[in-house]
Amino acid sequence: MTPPDATLRSAATTRVSIDLAALAANWLKMRDLSGSARCGAAVKADAYGTGADQAAPRLAREGCRDFFVADANEGAALRPLLPEARIYVLNGVFEEAFAQTLAHDLIPVISSPGQAAFWCGNAGGRPYALHIDTGMNRMGLTPGQALNHQQGSAPAPCLVMSHLARADEPHHPLNTTQIELFESLKPAFAGIEASLANSGGIFLGSAVHHDLTRPGIALYGGEPGAYRPNRLQTVVTAESRVLLIRHARAGETVSYGAAHQLERDCRIAVCGVGYADGFHRSASGAGVPLRSAVARGAQAAVGGKRVPVLGKITMDLTMFDVTDLPEGSVSAGDWIELMGPTITLEEAADAAGTINYELLTSLGRRHARNYVG
Ligand SMILES: *Cc1c(COP(=O)(O)O)cnc(C)c1O
Repeated sequence: MTPPDATLRSAATTRVSIDLAALAANWLKMRDLSGSARCGAAVKADAYGTGADQAAPRLAREGCRDFFVADANEGAALRPLLPEARIYVLNGVFEEAFAQTLAHDLIPVISSPGQAAFWCGNAGGRPYALHIDTGMNRMGLTPGQALNHQQGSAPAPCLVMSHLARADEPHHPLNTTQIELFESLKPAFAGIEASLANSGGIFLGSAVHHDLTRPGIALYGGEPGAYRPNRLQTVVTAESRVLLIRHARAGETVSYGAAHQLERDCRIAVCGVGYADGFHRSASGAGVPLRSAVARGAQAAVGGKRVPVLGKITMDLTMFDVTDLPEGSVSAGDWIELMGPTITLEEAADAAGTINYELLTSLGRRHARNYVG
């Protein structure tokens, strides 16, 4: 498949490749793991940075019919691409978003009695979902508020849902607490579909699956929780172009703040990627004083061999130590892998002191992007 013209930016010094076949395979895996439940997809935040306009229609082609976005703007943008789908808006509805929610047939996920009164009083019986908080204190009505709502005269929701706070930790007792509380509320919502599982929740097993699952990170190749190899396919590969190779002597320093002093003569690959491209400054090289969370900085890969960041990552440029690679094996114009088949998303996130979710959603806007598969 040729990439859309707008994403062909040959002068870009960072490029991102999105493997839609891997995305589809990950969704099919989540669907199979969801048992008899329907499998939806969280495509909020531009499908976790991968491009919702490409990712969502591909998932629809695989059979996905339930999509979760954060706000009505995201839902409105997707509606023309997903004419048949149910599109749920996780952040709910408020007055300024009301017209757009109606115009694009979006299903607001209601999280407070005020929102419920507003929607049920104004939307003329259009469907909505009800979010019940079972232990996260983020979105959702309290169980008491939800039961009150259900006993009132408002039309019933089309879906009741809750969200797990620690689904990525399979043995945490809070999961049991939330699973049991949600289960205990279900009889009050007889005949209404129920949904509890995000990616981590799907791996927890059938007690969490109910009627509809809502995976996000797993679709994009991210492990929920501790990294386990080979469960999901790599969707995102990010690479940076080597702009020049320079030679520096032992005792000299590299990058801003002269924070890294070379202990040996070095060959340095200067690459066109920086924190403006989501290569976080917190992943700067070992020894940089700003780093406390992680002991060593990020690594890139050249032909499967790892090379470390040297000194501070800057806005548009990063230096890598390629001294240990055979002379001539990397030159100006080559591309080095920042994450992908060798450097996992989780490893790259660890190096920056963050999580796979944040890394994907902060890829920046100036890279060349290519869709494959
Ligand atoms: C983001 C989100 C999801 C998807 O979560 P993952 O951990 O990415 O699978 C599901 N449900 C809700 C309410 C969310 O906010």
